[in-house]
Amino acid sequence: MSFLGTVEKYENFGFDGYFASVTDDDVKKSIVKEKLTEKDLLNLLSPSAENHLERMAKRSHELTMQYFGGVISLYIPLYISNYCSNGCVYCGFSANNSIPRKKLTLEEIEKEALIIKKTGIKHILVLTGEAESTAGFEYVKESVGLLSRHFPSISVEMFPMSTGEYAELKTLGVDGLTVYQEVYDREIYKRMHTSGKKTDYLSRLECPERGAKAGLRLVNIGALYGLGDVRKEAFMNALHAKYLDDKYPDTEIAVSFPRITHSEGNFKPPHELSDWTFVQFLTAFRLFLPRVSLNVSTREKALFRNNILPLGITRMSAGSKTFVGGYAESEKGDVPQFDISDGRSTEEIIRSIKERGYQPVLKDWEPVK
Ligand code: SF4
Repeated sequence: MSFLGTVEKYENFGFDGYFASVTDDDVKKSIVKEKLTEKDLLNLLSPSAENHLERMAKRSHELTMQYFGGVISLYIPLYISNYCSNGCVYCGFSANNSIPRKKLTLEEIEKEALIIKKTGIKHILVLTGEAESTAGFEYVKESVGLLSRHFPSISVEMFPMSTGEYAELKTLGVDGLTVYQEVYDREIYKRMHTSGKKTDYLSRLECPERGAKAGLRLVNIGALYGLGDVRKEAFMNALHAKYLDDKYPDTEIAVSFPRITHSEGNFKPPHELSDWTFVQFLTAFRLFLPRVSLNVSTREKALFRNNILPLGITRMSAGSKTFVGGYAESEKGDVPQFDISDGRSTEEIIRSIKERGYQPVLKDWEPVK
């Protein structure tokens, strides 16, 4: 059974009633438990748990040090195409937005690679919009094949692929997959994804599993906070991570907490994830999923990223540009997929991680040739 069974199980669950019934005692008991149940997770994600953030943060820090030590793995995103045939209402690259479209040539990709390489970071996340007719599988294969000459670790965030396609990318040097469900609530999903292949909820839901089945080393999932009720979405996302972590022990599962920031199209998110609740979610995830990597991107402000460093974070993006050709080929008028909030250079981020007593990891993987 795929994760769809769990989505269905909670579709008519009375989240609001349950959250309202959680007491301080329930939260305290859940914090100190060795192995947390789904009910414990609900307790830790409830509004009542916001009064216990200090205890949750302390426990989260202890668990993170126990399982990861003080290391923060760094990666850099590289956008190679912004063509997209989907109509996601919240995204700057949506087919509904008239923006300049660009797809890098192999020569241009190499230029970007050489600039990124100078930072010393060996993990890249290669992104495209979802336009298989313009930037399809063959283009992706050529691009990652070239990039693998410069980077030992390549993750992709692109159109959902089949297990066979991920396995083929693996032979070319890809070892990671990032795919966000965006929103687990099926009704809201329908409203947010108005056209294109991304309207297929199930294909997207099962995509991380296809990556794990293909033997990828890292699979990173997330809910895009702002689209649906944040507590319900966090709960479903944590269960999804647990499902993958239990079923695919050879794959490292990671979770991101992207919050909607401004983008072309001026989408106004119907829900908000405050900084305080973000911290609550981060620590609740660590307590529920002690071995899962937790990732924070440059969507978040520098000060906030610095402050949450000891609370469970193990992965961070650095020096990000969220438009195509952002490192070498940027032109006036380039439109980002979304605005970033931490504009520090890679060196500044590395320095700041060290100053806080953590070890930035620029490379932790080299495939055996
Ligand atoms: S979120 Fe992805 S699929 Fe949707 S419009 Fe943006 S680039 Fe395209």
